[in-house]
Amino acid sequence: MKLRAFLLLLSASTILLWRCGGNSETSAPSDSTASESGIVTRKVSGFSADNAYQNIKKQLDFGFRIPGTPAHKKCADWLFQELQNTCDTAYFQSGEGKAPKDGKKIPIYNLIGSINPQAKNRMIIASHWDSRPYADQDNKQQTEPILAANDGASGVGIILELAKNLKTQKPDWGIDFILFDAEDLGISEIENSFCLGSQYWGKHPHIPNYKANFGVLLDMVGGHNAQFMWEENSNNYANWILVHTWQIAQELGYENHFPLKLIGAITDDHKYVYEATKIPMIDIIQYDPNNGFAPFWHTHDDNMDAVDKRTLNAVGNTMLHLIFNPPATL
Ligand SMILES: [Zn+2]
Repeated sequence: MKLRAFLLLLSASTILLWRCGGNSETSAPSDSTASESGIVTRKVSGFSADNAYQNIKKQLDFGFRIPGTPAHKKCADWLFQELQNTCDTAYFQSGEGKAPKDGKKIPIYNLIGSINPQAKNRMIIASHWDSRPYADQDNKQQTEPILAANDGASGVGIILELAKNLKTQKPDWGIDFILFDAEDLGISEIENSFCLGSQYWGKHPHIPNYKANFGVLLDMVGGHNAQFMWEENSNNYANWILVHTWQIAQELGYENHFPLKLIGAITDDHKYVYEATKIPMIDIIQYDPNNGFAPFWHTHDDNMDAVDKRTLNAVGNTMLHLIFNPPATL
C-alpha cells in the first residue's frame, strides 16, 4: 500500500466533529462510553492466535510469493485448498496483470471463500497474500525480495483461522473472505501500480453483480504493539464500520491496539474495492502517526520475528466478534 497524505492526529472528541454522516452509528464512541453501550451481545470463543501464527509461517515456508513464480502458484493452491476445506464455497479467480517494474505479464490469483452463500447480508474480510519482490525500505539488499510475514501473510493467517472457526459455528450473515493477489508490486511513482488483484476483482467480481453490506481489509496486523487507527479513506467510505469495529475491540479490552485516533489516507485494496463497487470498506493497518509504517515495512526484517501473537489475538478476536455481532442493518 501507499501513503498518500500525512497524518492528522486528532483526539477522539475531535473525530466526533470530524465526520458526521447520516447513519445513526456515525458518532464516534468516546473511550468511556465504548464499553457501557455493549454492542458485543454474543461472545464467541475459538480464535487461536497460535493457529494464525502457524498459518503465517506456512506461507513463508513456500518462499517468496511473487506473482509469476512457482512458489506463488504453490502457495495459491494451498490457500485455495484451505478455503475449500473450511468455507461453503470457494473460488479460484485467475486473471492477468502487468508487473509495474518491467511491464511483463503476470498471473493474478484472487482466492475467495464464502460462508452462507445464500445470505443477503454479507461482509467481506480481505487481505493481500502476495509478497513484495524488493526490500526498497531496507538499507541493504534493496533489490532482494522480502518474506512479508506482516505485510500480507499476517492478514491471511488470521483469515484462515476465522474461516476454520466458522466451519463449526455459523453466523447469521454471509461472510466472503477475499485474498487479493499482486497488492505489493507497486512503485510509488507509478499511478495505480499497487493493488492489482483488487483492481482486477473490482472489474471482475467472483459473482456477477456481487454485493456486500461492507468490507474490512486486514493489512500488517501482526506487529509487536501494533496500533490501528482510523484511516482517512476508511473514514470517508465507512465511518459507521470504523465506529462499530473499534467499539467491539474496546469492549473486548484491546483499546491499546485500537485507539480512537485518525490518520491520513492510505491507498490500499479497500480503495479500489470501494471505487469499483461502492462497497464501503475499511482498512485495519498498522501505522504510527509519528513514525510512519512499522520499521519492518518493506525490509528484510518483515519475518516471523516481527509477528506477535498478542496482536494476532486482538485483531482475530475483534474480527470474530464483528462476524457474530454485525452492525444493525436498515
Ligand atoms: Zn507492502
